[in-house]
Amino acid sequence: MRALVWNGTNDIRCETVDDPRIEDPRDCILKVSSTAICGSDLHLMDGVVPKMKQGDILGHEFMGEVVEVGADVKRLKVGDRVVVPFTISCGECWFCQREMYSLCDTTNRTAENARAAMGHAPAGLFGYSHLTGGYSGGQAEYVRVPHADVGPIKLENDLPDDKVLFLSDIFPTGWMAAENAIGYEKGKTVAVWGAGPVGQFAVRSAWMMGAERVIVIDRVPERLALAASYGKAETIDYSQTDVKEALDEMTGGRGPDAGIDAVGAEAHGHGVLGDIKDKVELHTTGMSDQPFALQEMVMSVRKGGTLSVPGVYADKVTFPIGPFMNKGLTMKSGQTHMQRYLAPLLKRVEAGEIDLSGIITHRGDLKDGPDFYKTFRDKDDGCIKCVMKPEEL
Ligand code: NAD
Ligand code: ZN
Repeated sequence: MRALVWNGTNDIRCETVDDPRIEDPRDCILKVSSTAICGSDLHLMDGVVPKMKQGDILGHEFMGEVVEVGADVKRLKVGDRVVVPFTISCGECWFCQREMYSLCDTTNRTAENARAAMGHAPAGLFGYSHLTGGYSGGQAEYVRVPHADVGPIKLENDLPDDKVLFLSDIFPTGWMAAENAIGYEKGKTVAVWGAGPVGQFAVRSAWMMGAERVIVIDRVPERLALAASYGKAETIDYSQTDVKEALDEMTGGRGPDAGIDAVGAEAHGHGVLGDIKDKVELHTTGMSDQPFALQEMVMSVRKGGTLSVPGVYADKVTFPIGPFMNKGLTMKSGQTHMQRYLAPLLKRVEAGEIDLSGIITHRGDLKDGPDFYKTFRDKDDGCIKCVMKPEEL
C-alpha cells in the first residue's frame, strides 16, 4: 500500500510499504477513505517531538471502512463506516474507567521512553513517535486499529467524509479546550491564541458552551478572517498590536476570564527582535519548545482566571510561575480524552449545529501529502486544513 512516511526532519515521502495486518484479536483493519494533516504532525515534521524513526507511518486523523476484524471484536463488522479517534485506549484500566482516555495505562508500547521523559506514560497514539507507542498512522491506504471496540465510532448517517472526519481529533480537541477554559459556564470572555484548525473549533465550541465573548489572536490574515467569519469572533493581529494591552482595553482593564493556547510548542515570537531573542534562548538552553503564546496568556488572562492548553509541548519551557501563582490562575491541559466526546459531538454534527468542513482549504490524495505538509507548515496558499483521499490516486 501507499503511505506517508517520516524519513527524517522535514523529509516526508509518499512510499510503498507493507500492508498492515491483524496483530491482536481486538484489532480491525481500516481502508482509509479520508485523512488529514494536523498541527501536531508539524511537530514531528520539524523534529520538535523526539523519538521518531525512519520509516514511521504518519497520521492520526482518519476515517474509512472496516475491511477485516479480529476474532474478539464485537461492536464492528466488515463494511462499517467509522471515524477513528487519535487516542488508542483499552477502555478497562484505572484511567479509562475514569474517562481519561488519553492517559490509558496499557496501550503505550514504548512506555519506558515516555516515563524517562515525563515520569509517567500517557496513552498510545496513532502515528505519533516512539514516545506514544510507535503505532503506524492513518495517512495511508490501510491502517491497523487496535482496541477496535473502544475507539472507532460507527456512522449511521450519509454525511460526506468532509463533514465528519474532524471528529477524529480537532473538533473534540477544540471542545475539550473550551471545556477546560470555561466548563460550560455561561457569560465568560475567552481569548484563543492560534487561529489554526484547533483554534477555530475551540472558538465554535466556546460559543456552544455559552461564552459571551470570544477573541482570537494570530498573525495570519486569512486565519483571522476565518475566525471572524466561521467563528464570529473578535480578532487581534499580534504582529500589529500589543496583545496584552489590546485585551485589557477590550475588557475594561480586567483581562479575559479564560485563555486557550491553541498554538503549542512552535509559537512564533513577536517581530524580528523577538525572533532573534527566541533563537538565542533556544541555542543557549537547548530547549526546542517556544512557549510565547503560553507566556503571553499567563500575563493577559485576568486574576483568578483559567488557562487551557490543548497546544502540544514536548519539552520543558520557561514558564512564568510567579505571575501564574500570584494571579491565582488555574491551568488545565492534555491530549484530548477522545472517546469521552465522540458520541455527543457526532450528535451535534448530525443535528447541523456545526459544519466541520468549513475549515478545509486543500484537498488531494496521498501523493500530494509531502507538498501539503510544507504548504500547511508555511501557511502558504491560504492553507488552513488539508484533507487527502487515498483512493483518488
Ligand atoms: P496550526 O499550526 O495550524 O495552528 C497554530 C496557529 O498558531 C497558527 O495559525 C499560527 O500562526 C498561530 N501562532 C503561532 N505563534 C503564535 C503566537 N505567538 N500567538 C498567537 N498565535 C500564534 O495547528 P493546529 O492544527 O491548529 O493545532 C494547534 C495546536 O494544537 C498544536 O500545538 C497541535 O499540536 C495541538 N493539538 C493538540 C491536540 C490535543 O489533543 N491536545 C490535538 C490536536 C492538536
Ligand atoms: Zn491532530
